[in-house]
Formats: sequence, C-alpha cells, structure tokens
Amino acid sequence: MKDWKTNLRMATPYVPGEQPTEADIIKLNTNENPYPPAPGVADALAELLTEQLRLYPEPDAGRLASALAKRYGVAKEQIFIGTGSDDVLGMAFLTCFAGAAHAKQLGQAVEEHMVLFPDITYSFYPVWAELFGIPYRRPALDEGFRIRKEDYFVPNGGIVLANPNAPTSIAEDAAVIEDIIRHNPESVVIVDEAYVDFGAESVLPLVEKYENLLVVQTFSKSRSMAGMRIGFAVGSRTLIAAMQAVRNSYNSYPMSLPAILCGVAAVEDEAYFAQTTAAIIKTREASAVRLKQLGFTVLPSKTNFLFVSHKAVLAEELFERLREKHIYVRYFRQERIQNYLRITVGTDAQMEHFFEVLTTLVS
Ligand SMILES: *Cc1c(COP(=O)(O)O)cnc(C)c1O
Repeated sequence: MKDWKTNLRMATPYVPGEQPTEADIIKLNTNENPYPPAPGVADALAELLTEQLRLYPEPDAGRLASALAKRYGVAKEQIFIGTGSDDVLGMAFLTCFAGAAHAKQLGQAVEEHMVLFPDITYSFYPVWAELFGIPYRRPALDEGFRIRKEDYFVPNGGIVLANPNAPTSIAEDAAVIEDIIRHNPESVVIVDEAYVDFGAESVLPLVEKYENLLVVQTFSKSRSMAGMRIGFAVGSRTLIAAMQAVRNSYNSYPMSLPAILCGVAAVEDEAYFAQTTAAIIKTREASAVRLKQLGFTVLPSKTNFLFVSHKAVLAEELFERLREKHIYVRYFRQERIQNYLRITVGTDAQMEHFFEVLTTLVS
C-alpha cells in the first residue's frame, strides 16, 4: 500500500531569526533598520484609498521599476522586482542555475555544472539549491573569513556571492568580485548586495559590461522596510527577461499596490537614505571600538551588524544571558562560527543599554 505522503515534496526550510512580540525588548537579531522608513512612505500609505485595492496591481511593478531604473542609471527592462530579495534570489536560482538539469537531460556529467558559494554565507542559498535540485559545492573562506577568488576560477554552473558577506560582515573590493565575474563568462554570477549601502563598493555599474551579472538588493535593511517586502535585481535585458518569464510562469502579481507606492516614495528620498545609513555607520564604528575594549574580536564590518567573538566568554552563553535580559542577538550553531555572535547595529540609545548589560556579562 502506498502512503499518500510519499507524494509530498520534502523540504528543509531556512530558519529566520526570532520575531519576539514582547514590547520591552531590544531587537538586534535580524538586521532590521532601527530608524523608520522615509517620511514619504507614511504619506503614501495615508493617501492610499481602499478603492484602489479593487484592481490588480501592475504586473511588473512598473512605477517602482521606473523609479529604481532612474536611481541606478539603468533601463527599466534591466530591473526585476520581488517580495523581498529572498523572493528575487529564489527566482534567480530557479532561472539561472538550470545548467546541471540540462546536462543531466543530455546524459552528461553534472560535475562541471555545480553552483558555487562559500561555506560561510547566507544560509538560504543551500536551501534554494536543495529545493530546486541544483547541485552545489561550497569552497571554504580562508582563516580570516575572506573569499579565495581562485576557488571560483573553475568550471561551474553558476556563482552566488553575498558582498558584504553575511554573517561575517566582511566586504570584498569590487575589483575582487569583478575578477571572479571576468573568469566566468559561461555562468551567471549573482552578487547579493543586501548590505552594500552601509559602506561597501557595489558592482551594480558592471551590469553594462557583463551580461551574465545579476546584482540583488533589498529595501529591508538600508531602506527600513523589512515589513513591506521589497527586493530587486539589476542585470542585462536578456537575464532580466529570462527571470520575468520564470516569474510569470509562477505568479504574475507578486508586488502589492501598497508595496509599489511605498517603494517609490522610499527611492525618491535620497537625503533621508543618506542620513540614516550614515547614522548607522557612525554607531557601528563606535560600537566596534567599545566591543574591542570589552575583549571582543570584531570582524571589519561594512554592514549594519557586527560579527564578534569574546576571548573568554562563550558566544552561546552570552546569547542566552542577553536573551534573559530581553536583548536579542543572533547565534549560529554552525561549524567555524559557533563562537561568534551577530549583533545588529541599533540606535545609539539601544546600543547604550546593550553595552550596560554586556559589560556586566563579560567582566
Ligand atoms: C536580509 C538578507 C536578504 C533578504 O532580505 P529580504 O528581506 O528578503 O529582502 C538577502 N540576503 C542577505 C545576505 C540578507 O542578509
């Protein structure tokens, strides 16, 4: 007798950080922005009429695509928008990494079609690869958690790099990323720039030079809109058209009207964006100094978080003690990084309270 459950697809999901609902907590565990979205976002929501919700939204989120195209100096046809960059990245995996599947169909070996991403990086990448049956390999970062670019100078079926990387916070120069792209004209290179606005170099301008480059960014971190779910990719017209075709084979209206209108308002306020990202960078640098004074090793961050390890107190211990005091940071029970904590940069006031508690725990 066959069990109906044998028909189910088995998946091991990505596990995001906790979203506790108590009011009196300091939440430094999922890299949200501590500042509110640009003031224009509140106006856009206030002006939205429920009558407008009667109609389907624009299938390609056209107004938002135009605003992003203008902001980043590309054509509207070079922009793909999704419900958060997780959605965009998932669609990118599905679209861009079909080489191994094609090889298998032709009876060829899949060895040279493995998708490559580092051993320590965003933990959603292996989840999508497993879900879509994409074979992958994970070259190890070096002892300083840096990418060894030569690891990517081999035949492959695609490359994904988070730059700055997560959870390490380390950014590679655009020249290093370009070198990897230059060595891989036969595969798609996805660069996940979720944190690039906090001081790293973007490879976005290189989409004009390399047709096989896809740059993915998000409104969740630098634009303070994690709850609205907006992410986007920039690439060549050919690559974006391929992604749109896959997306439209699955869901034609991913972006809600409120998301489109709020997204446009956020992109249009360049001054607010510059001001809030600068504030976070300033708080990050001051926090890094204080952490070092308390005996922490602090990796050089170009993100809105700090990845740290204490010389005497175990990370897991600190994670639990902080949690008892209603301060949430992120801890990963994973090889190589099991003695590190990832701490999101909050407001100066939040960090002040965090340091008061942390000082008692490490001294
Ligand atoms: C936060 C994050 C994302 C996804 O964020 P969305 O909220 O889905 O836009 C993607 N990649 C990395 C590395 C991230 O840290």
